[in-house]
Amino acid sequence: MRIDEILKKKKTLSFEVFPPKKENGNDTDKLFATVDGLKALNPDFISVTYGASGTNARSAAEIAGYVKSAGVEPLAHVTGGPSAPSDIDSLAEKLKTFNVDNVLALRGDKPAEYDKEYCKHFKHASDLESYLKKYGFCMGAACYPEGHAESATLYDDLENLKKKVECGASFFITQMFFDNAYYYRLVNEAKRVGINIPIIPGIMPLTGVKNFAKIKSMCGSTIPIEFRNMIEVYSASPAAMREAGLNYAAYQISDLIAKGAPGIHVYTMNRADTAAEIVGRLRNIIDEFFKAD
Ligand code: FAD
Repeated sequence: MRIDEILKKKKTLSFEVFPPKKENGNDTDKLFATVDGLKALNPDFISVTYGASGTNARSAAEIAGYVKSAGVEPLAHVTGGPSAPSDIDSLAEKLKTFNVDNVLALRGDKPAEYDKEYCKHFKHASDLESYLKKYGFCMGAACYPEGHAESATLYDDLENLKKKVECGASFFITQMFFDNAYYYRLVNEAKRVGINIPIIPGIMPLTGVKNFAKIKSMCGSTIPIEFRNMIEVYSASPAAMREAGLNYAAYQISDLIAKGAPGIHVYTMNRADTAAEIVGRLRNIIDEFFKAD
């Protein structure tokens, strides 16, 4: 089923998984077990990332196929940056054979050793969307509450988000953020420039932080002072840090749903137990507020 159709009826609960770096039977089996664990939480869809180098295309498609066969809607990420049109065609055809209806069209993270071939065929996510249109997928795209790192201002970024909508995106999923104010600003400013498709907030529970500096350099997102203080105090105790990270993510989600977010996308880092703990903390909110109209 198309995710944009689900979003017309209800708030969506979704999770992200990433394929193993190397195609290896044990790791793939582990991921399938994670998908089974996530399915038990009754998500509306599960997204499957796609490596920036394009090398795990086969496993990404197969994992999306597994999600579908498990009875959950998959959202297959597709990155144009590393791909030639023929790569996109073979991936799209493979996704079609698995009855995958939804893709998240992305440029992809630029590899550390950026070479001229990267983005040769699809410079931006919108170029990939235009190319993918012939396949009839429901298409989502990425957006950035604090603005994309390569954009001078949020407003430049918003102009490019409009292009993503014109080229076929019917919903957005955000980059992770830890201060909901950035999400509300994005939603308001997007509306002001005429973007009216659902913007699903992406939340990452920070459960295993070893120190504050590491997390800041990893994700680049602003960490509010309250959460920064918790990280600095609790990161010496893994159990306490895990509890604080889960509670903080649950707090962010409760606030987002109370203020009308169209759903929640949880970056699970392939941990079904983390997703289960978040859902457990929000059981009544999910039961009451994610029901179909
Ligand atoms: P683009 O839309 O191309 O945007 C990149 C920059 O170019 C932005 O600054 C934008 O403002 C600008 N821009 C966009 N369109 C135009 C235009 N037409 N003209 C001029 N400038 C333009 N990466 C992966 O490798 N694999 C994944 O599976 C993956 N999944 C992700 C899922 C989500 C929800 C998010 C938020 C990100 C994900 N990423 C993934 C990371 C993403 O690929 C990177 O953030 C990348 O740097 C930008 O991708 P994009 O699709 O937003 O690119």
